[in-house]
Amino acid sequence: MRVKSKSLIERSFKVSSLWDHHGHITMLGGQSEKINCLKVSSPEKLYLLLKKEAARKGDGEWIFGYNLNMSLWGNRNSNIEIIDRVTPNNPLLIERVDAHSAVINSLTLKKVSLNLNEEIKGGFFEKANERYTGGVVDGTFERIMSYFSDSPPHLIEKRIKKAQVILKKNFLTGATDMMVTEAESQVYWQMECNKKLILPVVAFLKWSKDKNIPANLFKGKMYIEEGIKVFIDGALGSRGASLKSSYSDDRENYGVLLLDKKEIADLIEECNKKNINIAFHIIGDRALENFIEGYEVCSPLNIKIRLEHLQVTPPPLLKRLRKLDLILSLQPSHFLSDRKWAIKRLGKERLEYSYLLKSLIKGKKTYLFGTDFPIEPPNIKRTLRACLKRNKFEEIDILEALKGMKAPDQFSKFSKPCIISVTRNNNFSGIEIKYFDE
Ligand SMILES: [Zn+2]
Repeated sequence: MRVKSKSLIERSFKVSSLWDHHGHITMLGGQSEKINCLKVSSPEKLYLLLKKEAARKGDGEWIFGYNLNMSLWGNRNSNIEIIDRVTPNNPLLIERVDAHSAVINSLTLKKVSLNLNEEIKGGFFEKANERYTGGVVDGTFERIMSYFSDSPPHLIEKRIKKAQVILKKNFLTGATDMMVTEAESQVYWQMECNKKLILPVVAFLKWSKDKNIPANLFKGKMYIEEGIKVFIDGALGSRGASLKSSYSDDRENYGVLLLDKKEIADLIEECNKKNINIAFHIIGDRALENFIEGYEVCSPLNIKIRLEHLQVTPPPLLKRLRKLDLILSLQPSHFLSDRKWAIKRLGKERLEYSYLLKSLIKGKKTYLFGTDFPIEPPNIKRTLRACLKRNKFEEIDILEALKGMKAPDQFSKFSKPCIISVTRNNNFSGIEIKYFDE
């Protein structure tokens, strides 16, 4: 793989078929339809932004936003009463960076026929100092999102096309779309049949308790459905990840466990009978423990099981995990964004065994890396930086990192070779990538 070595460039690699193994294609393609809230650094700035948006929109029109990062606000929170005052005539949905929660107003609740006193399994309306913040987390967020789940096919197609252009610009041969809805699956299949896909896509279909396991999966040339995506818990940012000890910054809260070990075992057995692979979303250690205990009682399996994220992995669970035949799918760049606030959620001691990399892939023949785009940008350089710039126990070398970013074999013919050059300076800012023939 090593092709040249100059004095400035420490190492250069010719690589082909780079793949993002965990992303959300329609979310990426739909971002230009929403306001980017990444720089909203206080509740006041949020209110001002919403007030301006409301003034631009007609009565009843939705306001959509994404990338709201409330960890920039210190310990402050939003307040639904103020949000209602600045947006009296527009329902709104401002997704937070973790993509498992959002801020809404009372008109949104009316639109989706929910009220603040309603108990929703696996989710909650966020409160701070006894007042509602307007935050909706996990199951409650999902319930609101389900109101929008069926965008018209032309809009889904437009988003897929836009996202594919972005992925191509990022030197990717293709990507795995981790939470494809039924409507999206139909659109992908139409695009496959009409040869409209510019990059290959592997898909995992969104599954929840109220849904049946799909009877069959589409298998085309450019679009292949691999299995289902199943959530065992939520995310750390929104305190939805299921933890064995409570959150360090919310001592009453242990997160949300969406499936227990019995439900996990039953689901695995059923999917095994139907030959449907499963990708489990697991972030917290309680979610991981339930998965391991569910998996350990299953009969021998023909299907492939992937675990996504694995952000809190204490040594005893890691030891048990190593003995199991599973594919680990990690997103190294989450560490770059989350390390600013993860210590608040987890505390110093727990953080020591969180966001591991080398310890997780050690001895594994197959492991997969992705970015979880658009939560992180689908940027290869950033993923590499997140692999190389770690403490000495968790950093991996570039060849190990590239191994996790390799496309599935059947898609290698779609690839255009690239050259990646690495200059090893302090912050690995010297990573460059270009196409081989340019
Ligand atoms: Zn994801």
